[in-house]
Amino acid sequence: MTVDGYPREHPGEQVLTALTADDIDTFRAAVRGDIVFPDDESYDDARRVWNGLINRYPALVVRCSGVADIIEAVAFARRHEVPVAVRGGGHSVAGHSTCDGGIVIDLSPMDGVRVNPKERTVRVQGGATVGDLDHETQVFGLAVPGGGASDTGIAGLTLGGGLGHLSRKYGLTCDNLQSVNVVTADGEVVTASQNQNEDLFWALRGGGGNFGVVTSFEFRCHEVGPDIATCFIGYSHEEATEVLRYFRSYAADAPEEVTLTAAYARVPELPEFPEAVWGDPGLAIFGAFAGEPAAGEQEFQKFRDVAEPLVDLSGTMPYTDFQSRDDAFNPPGRHNYWNSLYLNELSDGAIDQIVAAGERAPSVYSNVGVMQLGGRISQVDPGQTAFVHRDAPFLFTVDAIWDDPVETEENIAWAQESIEDMREFTSRGPYVNLSGVHEEGEELLRSIYGTNYQRLTEVKAEYDPTNLFDHTRNIEPAS
Ligand code: FAD
Repeated sequence: MTVDGYPREHPGEQVLTALTADDIDTFRAAVRGDIVFPDDESYDDARRVWNGLINRYPALVVRCSGVADIIEAVAFARRHEVPVAVRGGGHSVAGHSTCDGGIVIDLSPMDGVRVNPKERTVRVQGGATVGDLDHETQVFGLAVPGGGASDTGIAGLTLGGGLGHLSRKYGLTCDNLQSVNVVTADGEVVTASQNQNEDLFWALRGGGGNFGVVTSFEFRCHEVGPDIATCFIGYSHEEATEVLRYFRSYAADAPEEVTLTAAYARVPELPEFPEAVWGDPGLAIFGAFAGEPAAGEQEFQKFRDVAEPLVDLSGTMPYTDFQSRDDAFNPPGRHNYWNSLYLNELSDGAIDQIVAAGERAPSVYSNVGVMQLGGRISQVDPGQTAFVHRDAPFLFTVDAIWDDPVETEENIAWAQESIEDMREFTSRGPYVNLSGVHEEGEELLRSIYGTNYQRLTEVKAEYDPTNLFDHTRNIEPAS
């Protein structure tokens, strides 16, 4: 039997037949949130994640209403030895927030955000999104540096580091963490901060979902907005190399207020772009200025003088509008394979590779980018948090995005080749939150965590010795 094109016989059902009706009833009675089973109408929605490439069949999805549900779900998984996936915003491109034949601990109903304007802090539940956080903090003219898509989960973003439009001025999302509350693998609720469970706090700032289920995050906020100067200038394919070279020299001594990305892509068929250039290949420079809008406008003017813009959507706008403006580029359900590499420098060779990879992209939705780092990100010692690539000046990214499953092989091959071609120009590994889909193994983890890897395995051994939380870029416990 098939439903919605997918087979109904799946590992989720097999696991459920191994459990007794009593096991299920006891669990149901203990949990306040909804539990979704394979026979429920909402199952296909509940099992799916943002990336349409990921097609897994959990035995059950627990939509947690609070910390007590999370504790019950962790205990259930341990008792019945079923795989565990933890979901915040569901944006893991690698599909880590779902699983076959296990339990998905889904925190999406836990999306509360409480701002303390006097202390300039905010407490965020583990299922909130970037949009939820921006919406509440902007009431008080505050912001936490987050990602560039409003539906990305704060949890996965922060646990992997968190790069966004304010990063060079205010650091990574994880750099603004003050404390976290976590349900550990043995079902205990612990707080981690600079003064409590310091090892866990260190590991959670970049080490991903390896150490427990984060029920809430407390962040420090900064004064941002309500309006912010933004840049989005597109140039023709012919100008791409020259503009990238200018981007490199500009980045070398740009003010910290500026965080920009350059991306080679095709002009999307969206109403904000002139129809005459839809589908044309070219280079876009986009980002924001975390300071006085007038100063930002002046700064971005420089990019109008480099070459004739094909498209110019720059301007001063409400911070929350800017943060959600690019959501339409990445709708849920498309097939995605994203990967990255930190660069030691943006050499002429690397620039040529960016343009060449962009030209070869088999899908009109795909893009090849380079994000400007440095500033506040690099002022933190690489050993101070698990996030290690502090001194890399740029992050190279490849986003393969396509609709038709028939084109999967071709698109993944293009993205993987683009990454391999770039290795000649860097000695570094990827950003954990953008590190491929099917790739795994210790070599990859070492390239992600470098000198911090060994300590991460030790913290893992302390907090999750049986590796219950392995649906993530998995760090195995030290033996
Ligand atoms: P999920 O899929 O829910 O989870 C991701 C990982 O975190 C999984 O391993 C999961 O088990 C774990 N996890 C989730 N919630 C919890 C929790 N409460 N406790 C413990 N572990 C948990 N990254 C950037 O840095 N900057 C960007 O601008 C950016 N833009 C993006 C835009 C889009 C459209 C997408 C798809 C991704 C983007 N990313 C960006 C990458 C993003 O940061 C990661 O995919 C991140 O993991 C997403 O977090 P999530 O909570 O939505 O994902």
